[in-house]
Amino acid sequence: MLETNERRVFMATTLQSMGLAALGGLLWSGYSDSVKASPLVLRPPGAIKEEDFLSACIKCGLCAEACVNRDTNRDTQTGEQKEGTLQMAKGGDAALIGTPYFVPTEVPCYMCEDIPCVPVCPSGALDMPSLLNESKELDITKASMGLAVVHKESCVAFWGIQCDACYRACPLLDTAITLDYQKNDRTGKHAFLLPVVHDTACTGCGLCEMACVTEKPAIFVLPNDIAKGKAGDHYVKGWDEKDQQRVQKAKEIKTTTKISEKEAADYLNGEELY
Ligand code: SF4
Ligand code: SF4
Repeated sequence: MLETNERRVFMATTLQSMGLAALGGLLWSGYSDSVKASPLVLRPPGAIKEEDFLSACIKCGLCAEACVNRDTNRDTQTGEQKEGTLQMAKGGDAALIGTPYFVPTEVPCYMCEDIPCVPVCPSGALDMPSLLNESKELDITKASMGLAVVHKESCVAFWGIQCDACYRACPLLDTAITLDYQKNDRTGKHAFLLPVVHDTACTGCGLCEMACVTEKPAIFVLPNDIAKGKAGDHYVKGWDEKDQQRVQKAKEIKTTTKISEKEAADYLNGEELY
């Protein structure tokens, strides 16, 4: 049995630890909530939806280890190991502490054919089946880490200066980035070589961002949710057979809004001026 004084000390210490633990829990949940709210983080190939990724990733670091230790990550001259693409987030980083992410302007993803960072993931946070092609082989072109976006106003190619740095750096040359040749009416005798990113092929590796010649890259990778718009399911491409099939079995939509009994105004052929 504990003496009264000892018991008091014991109770005080226990309550103190419980308080600290609760405070720690609160701080941690506050921290994870604030990190959840910062969606600008690029994850490794095969990463599942960000929300699910945050709960699935056990922060073991095996992906980052496989990335830095891959055979292709050595200096061809010295044979020395280079910095890996994947970093494990530390306090103060934009990503949840201990989760893997990458910053293209520091080290982009080199789109390794054997994708060593993915099969080592023990938690399913990096989903291997999503990277398999029709022949059931790992295929890095299936990755969708983000989407490259061009800021036309700062891209010197849009000024008429000849630059194809991003186009040349793209591992999926002429598929993920193509060049659109347009006449330069300002000079009358030159052509614009405009980079165009195709979202069906761009994997978000960031090699274009790394290669961009402007002070702050005019082409940069954003997570898909941020970079992409959404037209809405009710828009149907009448010229696209696949899209037509999508709505073939669509249910009839009934509206409770009363239809106006007034006649529709003929704006195009009427006398009124607008
Ligand atoms: S695919 Fe990209 S992230 Fe994965 S190991 Fe290669 S360079 Fe690293
Ligand atoms: S290997 Fe998987 S579980 Fe481990 S840190 Fe990387 S993503 Fe997270």
